[in-house]
Amino acid sequence: MVHTGIGYDVHPLAENRKLVLGGVHIPFSKGLQGHSDADVLIHAVCDAILGALGEGDIGCFFPNSDPRWKNAESRIFLEEAGRLVRARNGRIVNIDSTLIAEQPKVVPYREAMKEHLARALGLEPRQVGIKATTNEHLGFIGRGEGIAAMAVAAVDLP
Ligand code: MG
Repeated sequence: MVHTGIGYDVHPLAENRKLVLGGVHIPFSKGLQGHSDADVLIHAVCDAILGALGEGDIGCFFPNSDPRWKNAESRIFLEEAGRLVRARNGRIVNIDSTLIAEQPKVVPYREAMKEHLARALGLEPRQVGIKATTNEHLGFIGRGEGIAAMAVAAVDLP
């Protein structure tokens, strides 16, 4: 039976941080602030997968109070989510996601992000959807104070 899960995440933009989205370094004047590399897209995808498994969110598995995850690459979290699926004899059918950012333009990096996510999860890039939109200059995203991401996952479980 196919189970679905949703994920949502936000991180603030800050000076002197590298911007990493979907595991890809994107040249920009600011980066996302967080305990790990603050890859908001991967965090949302992780939560979607965990949600499909009926598990808690990423913070339950990788608490931001744990120094092991300081500046950690979020790929580690994604790989662990994939392991949890396999441990249940499950199979990820597909992932879909939307990045919500006023800046920078992420479309040129979309294929690289898809490939990174697919590789970490043992999927084909065509099983990973990444879309991007702005917030039409509204609210904190529109003011460029942060970036949000939402994701869904479909996981086939026995
Ligand atoms: Mg996060």
